[in-house]
Amino acid sequence: MSSVLVVGAGVIGLTAAVTLAEAGHDVTVRADRPPLETTSVVAGALWGPSFQEPMADTHAWTVHSLGVFQELATDPASGVRLIPSLSVSAVPGFDEIPPQARIIPDLRAVDPAAVPAGFTSAARATMPLVGLRPERPSVRVEAERLGSALVVHDYGHGGNGVSLSWGCAARVRELVEGGGPHRLRGRPSTPGSGR
Ligand SMILES: Cc1cc2nc3c(=O)[nH]c(=O)nc-3n(C[C@H](O)[C@H](O)[C@H](O)COP(=O)(O)OP(=O)(O)OC[C@H]3O[C@@H](n4cnc5c(N)ncnc54)[C@H](O)[C@@H]3O)c2cc1C
Repeated sequence: MSSVLVVGAGVIGLTAAVTLAEAGHDVTVRADRPPLETTSVVAGALWGPSFQEPMADTHAWTVHSLGVFQELATDPASGVRLIPSLSVSAVPGFDEIPPQARIIPDLRAVDPAAVPAGFTSAARATMPLVGLRPERPSVRVEAERLGSALVVHDYGHGGNGVSLSWGCAARVRELVEGGGPHRLRGRPSTPGSGR
């Protein structure tokens, strides 16, 4: 097992730290702001599908995170709850559900007659409610060797960091351990692919 330094105490750093510690690594977390002063703590986040690149990975990571949040929601002390949600759109022709959104539990279209005034379509679902949107074209979860240290990058989650957190943390663990992939919920692992 390795000695791992996690830089950052927001949802991304802490989920990576918990995942690695649970896997038996010796983990230290360092940050210039403590957890209660991070963006993550004010996000008031809803879990949701990701439309970010790399698309196949972000899809698998949000599915994995959903499974972890659903488990956490069984413990009221976790702060994670499953809540009924209503999403509305005023964009005409937006009633086609994109494939990424099909992973949303209980997703169902609202009868056109019941769509709130001022909107053209609406959908109901049961979503995990968790808690900056530093944006880049794609989420970066990659390993880089710097001298004798292995640096694992895990950033660029934009407006979806909470939704991606546990899935990215599982990928970070794979990269730290440098071995075969660990099984992500909702996606069979693919031995040999490094993912
Ligand atoms: C209003 C709002 C609503 C949102 N809603 C959702 C939502 O509904 N669903 C969703 O999934 N996501 C949502 N997000 C996005 C989500 O909150 C972010 O993607 C996520 O919080 C990013 O987490 P993070 O750990 O990368 O960053 P942060 O929470 O910002 O934590 C960064 C950590 O790194 C440390 N750090 C940074 N630089 C250094 C340095 N140079 N040296 C040492 N330490 C450093 C900081 O001190 C901090 O501890 C929302 C964001 C906002 C602002």
